[in-house]
Amino acid sequence: MERQRLDADIVCVGFGPATAGFLTTLSKQLVNADGSPAVESAVMPGAPPQVLCYERADDIGFGVSGVVTRARALRASFPGIEKAGIPMAAPVGEEMVLYLLDPHGASRRSTTLHLADWFIRTFKFALPIEHHALNLPWTPSFLHKRGGMVLSIGQFMQWAGAQVQSTGAVQIWPGTPVSQALIEENKVVGVRLLDQGVDKKGRPADGFTPGMDIHAALTVVGDGPVGPIGQQLNAHFGLPEGHHTRDWAVGMKFVLDLPADSPLKPGTVLHTFGYPEPEIFGFLYVHPDRVASLGIFVPSWFDSPMRTAYRYLQHWMLHPYLWRYLKGGKLRSWGAKTLGESGKRGEPHLVGDGYARIGEGSGSTNVLTGSGVDEAWATGTQLAEAVLELLKTKKPFTMQNLDEAYVKRRRASWVEQEAVVAEKSRDGFQKGVVRGMMGMALAGLTKGRFTLGGDPAPPWKRIPRIEEYYRGRVSPGQIAKLRGECKARGVSLHGALMDKAGWPAIPFDGQLLVSHQDALLMGGKVQAPPGYADHVVFLYPELCEKCGTKICIELCSGQAITPGENGVPVFDREKCVHCGACVWNCAQPLPYDSERGNIAFRAGTGGLHSAEN
Ligand SMILES: Cc1cc2nc3c(=O)[nH]c(=O)nc-3n(C[C@H](O)[C@H](O)[C@H](O)COP(=O)(O)OP(=O)(O)OC[C@H]3O[C@@H](n4cnc5c(N)ncnc54)[C@H](O)[C@@H]3O)c2cc1C
Ligand code: SF4
Ligand code: SF4
Repeated sequence: MERQRLDADIVCVGFGPATAGFLTTLSKQLVNADGSPAVESAVMPGAPPQVLCYERADDIGFGVSGVVTRARALRASFPGIEKAGIPMAAPVGEEMVLYLLDPHGASRRSTTLHLADWFIRTFKFALPIEHHALNLPWTPSFLHKRGGMVLSIGQFMQWAGAQVQSTGAVQIWPGTPVSQALIEENKVVGVRLLDQGVDKKGRPADGFTPGMDIHAALTVVGDGPVGPIGQQLNAHFGLPEGHHTRDWAVGMKFVLDLPADSPLKPGTVLHTFGYPEPEIFGFLYVHPDRVASLGIFVPSWFDSPMRTAYRYLQHWMLHPYLWRYLKGGKLRSWGAKTLGESGKRGEPHLVGDGYARIGEGSGSTNVLTGSGVDEAWATGTQLAEAVLELLKTKKPFTMQNLDEAYVKRRRASWVEQEAVVAEKSRDGFQKGVVRGMMGMALAGLTKGRFTLGGDPAPPWKRIPRIEEYYRGRVSPGQIAKLRGECKARGVSLHGALMDKAGWPAIPFDGQLLVSHQDALLMGGKVQAPPGYADHVVFLYPELCEKCGTKICIELCSGQAITPGENGVPVFDREKCVHCGACVWNCAQPLPYDSERGNIAFRAGTGGLHSAEN
């Protein structure tokens, strides 16, 4: 069957907050009030520009994120946003930052932290401590979201998508992954959609339908931190001198019904650090109607071969400070997603001939304030204003014109100013949590003039051997025995190791504390339609064969990667939640590119089917 071709004016990859910001601004100005085109299409003369947006997930908003946001950019697009009736939205109320002590003694704490814990416990009579948690009496203003909103990003995206589509000026196609950018002599001329009716390896099978080629004068890439099109452009064009994307985190979250007698008020925002491991940050946001979003971030600088999130999330929920609020709660939704934590340092070439990058994949996320949605949205609106300017002045989408119109706008905006302050703010974490927290405070309070240094290393360089990590807790002999047992059962090793290292068993209750498999079905409602190739691919099996930690199996958010023959893991597409964590966590660098690991994360279908995350 021949590959079809479609011509459009603008094609967008991904419908996250960045593209939603782009299309919201653009769609309002393509058509005049009398229905005539405000600017004309090049491919359909007499009509307004033909704008298409392809989203990988099976519906709009089927991703995962917080979100508490100051909502500056959102409010600029929707001045009445608070009163728009967006489900699960609440104004930010009480904000707290808590240092969680370890009630079990199972976490791995540095000497400095042990000393700090001793001090806190000794002087607890004089400190705001309850249920093994210190409520920080003061937190710097840059951490606050006062005046902002607690949203469900899934619900917000569905609402924003409906606003965009109601203009009739653009089309959004969910369930339609883009497999690659079409590049001709360093110019992006459009995108290719994913082939259907293929086997796991992508070879034509029953019902083979090659993905259509969409040619467009402008390709807008807003596919998030691990999107395959952004990755392709990074590989093709390289990153600007000195830039890299070495800092990441996987965020895993639950949406739950709080117990009927919950005292937590809508708008409550709670951030934690210190437990279940000092490196793991947690969040809890309260929506109206006793619904809460909560979760943890496991960062790439957590020097553990067990950067697993699911079990740690359960231990975090069971911390006495939190559990008294959560006990009796019920799981509604669950999922995981990567957060690109390199910020401005991970910024790629923002424009080129025929393309522009927006959102987190363009380095917009602010790693100091923990804010990504507002920034992503703002970069989308900036690009839309630039595109309208170029369309009106009939200038082509060349690198130079896009640079003049978009990049200049972005550089002059608050997104850039705050990104510069944040750029090195988290470098201290490269050398430990205490130094990291001090570095953040220093950078925030001095507006980025002073920071505590630390050279970000690629994640694979930070993964110690399992035997090394558990030295003094689990002997190499015990590790070898557990490894053999887990391999025979075809399961990951971290659960058995955490048990051995002193973590208590999770008291499953069938409604909130459920097994990982149950979370996939009950909370993630994970599905994958047949007829598509595997989107997670182990590039060089020989690298897997010699890989000792096999961290991809341990960290997989969906238990979609399991032990396989000859040391090469097996991928199960039907369990993958598309978090993208495997791609940056792989323990083996590619022989020809030490910034990339042995896993390719390609365009794929399916994943989470919940719009509450
Ligand atoms: C657990 C968690 C909690 C967070 N909490 C907060 C918070 O409280 N406040 C805050 O401001 N930010 C928060 N963030 C960060 C915030 O979610 C991101 O910064 C923001 O979503 C980035 O928007 P984006 O549009 O750039 O990318 P994304 O939201 O990643 O959207 C990209 C879209 O592209 C789609 N896509 C990917 N590949 C393809 C393809 N090949 N073809 C078609 N479509 C594709 C994806 O499915 C997705 O819908 C959180 C993130 C996580 C993971
Ligand atoms: S994919 Fe990476 S982490 Fe997983 S086994 Fe292969 S080399 Fe190791
Ligand atoms: S296989 Fe899927 S679920 Fe597992 S880490 Fe990779 S992207 Fe996430």
